[in-house]
Amino acid sequence: MIPRLLIIALGLATSLWVATTTAQTLVLVSIDGFRWDYLDWPEATNMRSIAAQGSRVTKLRTVYPSKTFPGHLSIATGLHPTEHGVIDNYFCRSDRTDCYSMGKGRKDPSWLAGIPLWTLVEQQGGRASTFFWPESDAPFANTLPTDYRAFDGRIPHRERVQQVVDWLSLPSKQRPELVTLYFSVVDSASHTFGPTAPETLSAISEVDHQIAVLWQAIESINAEEGADINLMLVSDHGMSEVDPDLFIDTNTLPRPKGFKRVNGSTRVTYYQRDPDADMNALAGALDRMSDGRWRRLSYLDLAERHFENHPGVGDLIIETAPPRVFRRGGGKDPGLRGMHGYPATVEDMAAFLVAVGPDFREGKVIPEAHQLDVYPVAATLLDLKVPDNIASDGGPLRAILLEPQ
Ligand SMILES: [Zn+2]
Repeated sequence: MIPRLLIIALGLATSLWVATTTAQTLVLVSIDGFRWDYLDWPEATNMRSIAAQGSRVTKLRTVYPSKTFPGHLSIATGLHPTEHGVIDNYFCRSDRTDCYSMGKGRKDPSWLAGIPLWTLVEQQGGRASTFFWPESDAPFANTLPTDYRAFDGRIPHRERVQQVVDWLSLPSKQRPELVTLYFSVVDSASHTFGPTAPETLSAISEVDHQIAVLWQAIESINAEEGADINLMLVSDHGMSEVDPDLFIDTNTLPRPKGFKRVNGSTRVTYYQRDPDADMNALAGALDRMSDGRWRRLSYLDLAERHFENHPGVGDLIIETAPPRVFRRGGGKDPGLRGMHGYPATVEDMAAFLVAVGPDFREGKVIPEAHQLDVYPVAATLLDLKVPDNIASDGGPLRAILLEPQ
């Protein structure tokens, strides 16, 4: 019989040896629109069993607004949207005449700020490989990932997973420290058909299958090559059911001269373009016609959501709540049954997180963490020094690390 202490000592020696001889890799996968509760649905069987081998966050709280580009960039940079610059999927700025639309950073990186994880890896001598992540094909700090793809939603899922597996299968010296992967199918189906529709369930099943293929490949590379590859699954936001009978037709909203009006689906923003334009008159008109369908956001609301001190915030915002959205023409288009973008106080907006692999704790369930906690925890895992201005130190998410630092 081997004394118990010796086993512990041997175990410690092995783990120290692994830590000093193998570079860690993190595979960060985003499933766009994967609501917090989907993980417990029958369609996510594989992901649930993968989660049981690692850690999970029941509700991953989102930044404001809970939109795709702001959320993904907050996960990637550790900054609030007003700090990384992408404050919505489409927005204008009081100090620019042009407006941002999704993916614009590739041609014009002046919209972007912060150091995303893939840039952090490259700056500190590592290799990052991205198979989609919003703005991962744009230069941050004049740097691009070693490998990246310009976004093309038509590329089949199996091709994306295969490329990721090929990167992970490289000899250890060439294996990337960070790999990202992105699926949009759950978000698309739930926008069109609703968050509980059969089409959404089959999208969940499809992604669940791809994740199972990926995890199986990671496990075999870890076992056969002695690699140290960890997998983290996250989403950018959840999804609320919306009701076309209650949609608010933006054509009925005031559009006074001197203002630019932008419809963000869950809210409408007015930018005062002419300093003489009458703000109070506009505010009064919007309040009078609201009839409980929307409310004007106060400075306090904006401060609570860290949505201030940025030229994209706008001068006046009205916001609605599910099951309503702002929609040009009202509810005439039947192809919209799900929406996100509402504040994190709407429970349906919560995202999820699963972390599994040699460096993550097994069987850990964290009731709540924040998207902004991902960056510092990923940086700790990859042994990277983080920028001083990031929003979180990792908070409750640090508990997923096997050896919290
Ligand atoms: Zn999204």
